[in-house]
Amino acid sequence: MTALQASLRPLRLVPWLVRTLVPDRYIGTYALHQHGDVIYVGRSDDLRQRLIVHAEDRRADFFTYDVHKSSLHAFEVESALYHILADSVTNQIHPAAPKHSGATCPFCRATAVASMTERIDLRAHSDHTAAASTTLFQEGNKSHD
Ligand SMILES: [Zn+2]
Repeated sequence: MTALQASLRPLRLVPWLVRTLVPDRYIGTYALHQHGDVIYVGRSDDLRQRLIVHAEDRRADFFTYDVHKSSLHAFEVESALYHILADSVTNQIHPAAPKHSGATCPFCRATAVASMTERIDLRAHSDHTAAASTTLFQEGNKSHD
């Protein structure tokens, strides 16, 4: 088994180097660099294959990458990179959560607007939860009679 590895030192984005350095069929995140700036961040469940496609398309000069144990963890790292590098990356849309994961970006949730919306949503959808708590509370009182 290949040990998990990563490179945060920019490497030349050419297919042979990707094939040589990036382990096959690993979940990963990556950044594409052009003229010293990160211009794109992404993730893939097949990191090596995705980077080869970018190399063949000549999307950038250099790349950095990291490997992850799950798509969900990769999504969180990708989201962090997306927010941190928002001023330089050309990504048009926010990273998508892994299919069927129902995951949301932990960094969008951290914003005031998002947390406000979340609070309102919780109140609107928590009627039966509140009723259940009341029932428990009443039963709790009964046992002390
Ligand atoms: Zn976000």
